[in-house]
Amino acid sequence: MTDCIFCKIANGEFNTPFVYETDDLVAFKDINPKADTHILVVPKKHFDSLKELDDEVLLGKLLSGVKQTAKKLGLDSYKTVINTGKEAGQEVFHLHIHILSGNIKGV
Ligand code: AMP
Ligand code: ZN
Repeated sequence: MTDCIFCKIANGEFNTPFVYETDDLVAFKDINPKADTHILVVPKKHFDSLKELDDEVLLGKLLSGVKQTAKKLGLDSYKTVINTGKEAGQEVFHLHIHILSGNIKGV
């Protein structure tokens, strides 16, 4: 999607540093961190939310991306959050998984 901020980030349009990247996903720091470490794992392909994701292989790759990102950052303990839908607190409508670690304030 051309007007989607996370599509643009995943495409490298803002030169955002990626803490982890594969052919299918990128991981980068949340701009408004709610914990000492707050990372977003984002598929390169656009899906509005988890509801629209119809690819179970990619779903597994995203969770694997969470694991690998946490491992790379040396996180021993972390929380993983997916907000789906406006009433659940989703603000950016490009599927993403939060990784939060240390002094978690909640998302
Ligand atoms: P959610 O409420 O689950 O949709 O989470 C959206 C998250 O994206 C929030 O934690 C925001 O701080 C974060 N966010 C929004 N815009 C950016 C951006 N340009 N770069 C990094 N994180 C962002
Ligand atoms: Zn997008």
